[in-house]
Amino acid sequence: MEKLRNKKGYICDMDGVIYHGNKLLPGAKEFVKWLRDNNKAFLFLTNNSQKSPKELAQKLARMGLEVGEHHFYTAAMATASFLKGQGAKTAYVIGDAGLTNALYQVGIALNDIDPEYVVIGETQNYNFENIKHATVLVNNGAKLIGTNADITTPTEEGEIPACKALVAPVEYATNRTAYYVGKPNPLMMRAAMHCFHERGIHSADVAMIGDRMDTDIVGALESGLDPILVMSGVSTPEIVAKYPYQPRLILNGVGDIAE
Ligand SMILES: [Mg+2]
Repeated sequence: MEKLRNKKGYICDMDGVIYHGNKLLPGAKEFVKWLRDNNKAFLFLTNNSQKSPKELAQKLARMGLEVGEHHFYTAAMATASFLKGQGAKTAYVIGDAGLTNALYQVGIALNDIDPEYVVIGETQNYNFENIKHATVLVNNGAKLIGTNADITTPTEEGEIPACKALVAPVEYATNRTAYYVGKPNPLMMRAAMHCFHERGIHSADVAMIGDRMDTDIVGALESGLDPILVMSGVSTPEIVAKYPYQPRLILNGVGDIAE
């Protein structure tokens, strides 16, 4: 635990770590206060590409937690960073404002005629017209990208389709496989780490805190960050025991760090 507290930077998953649904988890406020009091660098990471950092900051504020927008890193931002690195200039997007804004910010123009890439993220505006169009563009040579490989997302109504389930029809129809950027792809953690490099903080000084073995913990391991599992989300001891890799530390919740 002392080793964990001595880290300079923390990358935290959100759902199941900081909040669940629309409720802050016990200890989340104390943890954020501890981060500030101890002058730690921190980033909240999400695979969801729908919301922009500003919207995420507002969401946390509604739950009573004030966190500046520069503390958020989304799969949409990681996708934009990846595409910029690939020299991308144009994309056809099926996604929400969080994704289109992130792409605009790295200079990628939306193009539905002859784009280099088709980029798909979570969105309510999903219909036959846009998957048909995406299929035609991929068959014409556009490369297919998914913001993250989550298949479902838990909601109050139950599990609902997430990014990979939305990309699947285009993969089937084109007989192509998309490249997925978000967790557990280490690309996501490395892209997030760029925000820490400016402060001279490197991966050995950073812990990744999450509630899922198959995304947060494996992603942290494969990108050289200390993986910390919290039991406040989807994991149970039975689930944890099944994996060939284990977290460095298992906590009840992030509040344990502040105690
Ligand atoms: Mg989570």
